[in-house]
Amino acid sequence: MSRPSNSPKLSPRAVVAAMQAYQPGKPVSEAQRELGIEQFIKLASNENPLGPSPKVSVAIADAITDIHRYPDANGFYLKQMLAERHGVGIECITLGAGSNEILEFVASAFLDHESSAVFSEYAFLVYALAVARSGARAIVTAADNFGHDTQAISNAIAVDTKVVYLANPNNPTGTYFNHQALIQLLNSIPSNILVVLDEAYAEYVCCDDYPDGISLLAAYPNLLVTRTFSKAFGLGGMRIGYSLSNPQVADVLNRVRPPFNVSSLSLVAAQAALQDDAYLQRSVATNRAGMDQLVQGLSALGINTIDSIANFITIEVGDAATVNAQLLQQGVIVRPVANYAMPNHLRVTIGLEQENSQLLEAVGTIIGDRA
Ligand SMILES: *Cc1c(COP(=O)(O)O)cnc(C)c1O
Repeated sequence: MSRPSNSPKLSPRAVVAAMQAYQPGKPVSEAQRELGIEQFIKLASNENPLGPSPKVSVAIADAITDIHRYPDANGFYLKQMLAERHGVGIECITLGAGSNEILEFVASAFLDHESSAVFSEYAFLVYALAVARSGARAIVTAADNFGHDTQAISNAIAVDTKVVYLANPNNPTGTYFNHQALIQLLNSIPSNILVVLDEAYAEYVCCDDYPDGISLLAAYPNLLVTRTFSKAFGLGGMRIGYSLSNPQVADVLNRVRPPFNVSSLSLVAAQAALQDDAYLQRSVATNRAGMDQLVQGLSALGINTIDSIANFITIEVGDAATVNAQLLQQGVIVRPVANYAMPNHLRVTIGLEQENSQLLEAVGTIIGDRA
């Protein structure tokens, strides 16, 4: 293919030239365009299948008349609510356009080509991308049965390590490590290394031994916990998340945070979401029922799954690219995870009962055709 004569002759930084862009779940509109099918169910991006809280819709409508104003760059009222909810000082909170942006702030504030960051095999891909872009060396530890091996992570820390990224539970595997494992790991990490504990799915979790990262902030000043409104709070499209950390860490992150990174509607939406506890409870209950439905249905089909405590489950289907294409033909969008070096797995978000049934039926048909 010939290059158009007007293409620019610019060269990005070497680390950027070597990177690949993040591959998001396929939007419904894109699937409709590509396959010419009208009806799709999307179980691909760990979104809340209930849609947003009605309180959020009202709050956004009310706030629309003020969108000619810049947002409060410090997000005072939202931070105040979060501080109260989590029992921390307001100066411990940093707001991001999604918690994804906080993960990026960490990399740009703490990592450069003279440092390294540690994270697990199969860990959320954004860590690898943020680290690569910073020019730092990535130290990737072997997983333990698809989950984080916290001992391996501890052992992997090098003299130039500045950041450790942990996902609990992890995406795309849904696995978690328990309280004792986290304490042991934190105790083994020197205090000059920032430990990022990504708790994007924490609101969904119900196991007794799941560690509450926020309760450990006082004891571990080098710990940063990230949370998001994108998953259980149902606000993926609003792009808002936050971190809780020692105020000194928050101050550092604020220096690399673009001004007005969180929009006024996102601030308002998050505040309204925090005030609708019934919606959050319904979301968690819907997820729990849907998880049971999928686990039972998949097991009945003889499909191996990775035990998950989040709002998705990753399933073993053989040649996942083929199965994914077949599912698309049947109007079901799930998430291939070949870019995580898991070419035999698909990640399925827990949907509404009807959506879960449709997924199970489609998978059943594909497996049946194969046999
Ligand atoms: C979805 C997700 C996030 C963040 O999403 P945002 O929409 O940027 O808040 C962070 N970490 C993990 C592990 C996730 O799955």
